[in-house]
Amino acid sequence: MSTIKKILVIGAGIAGTAVCYWLRRFGFYPVLIEKSACIRKGGQGLDIRGVAIDIVKKMVIYEQICKMRTQVECGRYVDVVGKTLHEEKGEKFAFRQDEDVEILRGDLIEILMKTIDDVPCHFNQSIDSIEQNDDDVIVYFKDARVEHYDLIIGADGIHSSIRRMVFDKDEYRLVNLAEAYFSIFSIPNYLNLSHTEVQCETNEKLVSITSDKDPKTAQVAFMFRSQHVWNNLRDEHEQMQFLRDIFHDFGWEAQKILELMPNSHDFYFDSVTQVKMRSWTKGQVALVGDASYSASPLSGQGNNLALVGAYILAGELKAAEGNYRLAFNRYNELLHPFVEANQQLGAWVSESFLVPDAVSKEVAEERSNRILQKVQIISNAIKLPEYE
Ligand SMILES: Cc1cc2nc3c(=O)[nH]c(=O)nc-3n(C[C@H](O)[C@H](O)[C@H](O)COP(=O)(O)OP(=O)(O)OC[C@H]3O[C@@H](n4cnc5c(N)ncnc54)[C@H](O)[C@@H]3O)c2cc1C
Repeated sequence: MSTIKKILVIGAGIAGTAVCYWLRRFGFYPVLIEKSACIRKGGQGLDIRGVAIDIVKKMVIYEQICKMRTQVECGRYVDVVGKTLHEEKGEKFAFRQDEDVEILRGDLIEILMKTIDDVPCHFNQSIDSIEQNDDDVIVYFKDARVEHYDLIIGADGIHSSIRRMVFDKDEYRLVNLAEAYFSIFSIPNYLNLSHTEVQCETNEKLVSITSDKDPKTAQVAFMFRSQHVWNNLRDEHEQMQFLRDIFHDFGWEAQKILELMPNSHDFYFDSVTQVKMRSWTKGQVALVGDASYSASPLSGQGNNLALVGAYILAGELKAAEGNYRLAFNRYNELLHPFVEANQQLGAWVSESFLVPDAVSKEVAEERSNRILQKVQIISNAIKLPEYE
């Protein structure tokens, strides 16, 4: 029987909640901490596809996800004066088929949180430093508490502070794909869209507006390329000003959306970045999800990588019966080819979007078909081990 019991999981996103679920199911005692005051429910629809469907079925949450799924029925491409270029059924527009299902990020986290009722979860908490020794890991919290754990799992997203604390600078690389940036937020549904996504793409910029189940709200996404030199990429004022500068002459609905932007409650902005690491583990610390192998939002696979990684990390800890070194080696070994395939997909998609001219019907259709084909192969490109 494993001697590893107490595991601290940092970050209550998809990876953090999923790894807690599997650790608990496999007989460990995780404790989850999150730096925000509550679950961060922002984000647009995330697709669950490929082997991640088998995982959510094993977690017995697939039916629930399907019940709460998004219901975008129509995807429409428009030009900069709003003229329709072409329309597609929602499923094809979002590269889904068969059992694939899309759910809002916030709804997925809510479902995952319910699966870990028996896991202590503390908000408004983060850590200052950790100290690894032969017996355990000493964790120094920001509020001056000191606690001991057997293992630490960093699930704290693309800007992971655990990664910075534990790994040397030459042990990870952040790659901004094709100098692309990405912003999403909610605004009132002033266009009265119903179960529809409208997208306008030209001059290496893209704006989309979607309204789905909530008729009052619309989700906006901006995507673009830029060689901008940042004072502080994490500063929200600088991010918003940057969007205004880039999109002021875009046309279509961009100006109106930019006026509504400051009142949005869930503004999110980031570079389209991948995290590259040879090993996601060091000593008694493992990283999971975007913290370790973000494939970028453009891969459409971030949550699926997080779900698969969480399952394999917890499963290997169970299989190794306490030998975390063995488990961590297996986790790295099993997951690397899958991560690499997904990161290649993310890089390829980032090159195919944000075309220099107005996107034509032919380009959009050809791109949709190719992405759909690739994503179906790559989302299945791992054989999941059985741990029970
Ligand atoms: C608000 C938000 C909106 C997003 N929207 C989209 C989207 O629309 N489309 C898309 O493809 N991807 C989106 N993503 C990314 C997507 O969630 C991930 O690619 C994928 O689900 C893997 O998630 P993760 O759990 O590894 O990381 P994340 O989802 O980023 O979760 C990390 C969690 O860790 C917490 N955290 C961070 N630092 C600390 C710390 N020091 N201590 C404690 N907790 C910490 C964060 O608050 C967050 O809750 C979004 C992420 C966030 C946080």
